[in-house]
Amino acid sequence: MVWIHSDTGLYSVAGGVEHLRSNSTEPWWASIIWKKAIHPRLSGMACKIFQKRVPFDNEIQKWDVQLASRCYLCHKEVEDLNHIIWECNVSIDMWKWLSESFDALFEFNGFRQAMDKFNNAGSFIRDIWQAGVIATMVEIWKWSRYPRKFCW
Ligand SMILES: [Zn+2]
Repeated sequence: MVWIHSDTGLYSVAGGVEHLRSNSTEPWWASIIWKKAIHPRLSGMACKIFQKRVPFDNEIQKWDVQLASRCYLCHKEVEDLNHIIWECNVSIDMWKWLSESFDALFEFNGFRQAMDKFNNAGSFIRDIWQAGVIATMVEIWKWSRYPRKFCW
């Protein structure tokens, strides 16, 4: 496999980040997830989730594969990205836990709303919060793929 955006044809995380930053057609969320305060591996996983390069039942059904689509977290609703990350009762509990970890009672129902919390705080707190939002988003997705007991 050749990474066409480098001189050597070899992919590197730094090269991938630079390509995303220099690409004028980058999606709105790219500049938010690729930050110094967020580990590139975490940003990369969040990027895959936003680009839907991770499997969701409703996406697989678009390929005419018949599945009994359901959320693996609540076992009630149809599985899709928005439900799993933001609307599922299980993920809402996770967001509440993150918010309480910051001594806050934030409510939000989407990535941009979540990332905008602490915009008026210092950059240190804001960076930690935003890293927490992205890490929680990725962990919720992983948890929905590989259900297991969660130990508090
Ligand atoms: Zn659910």
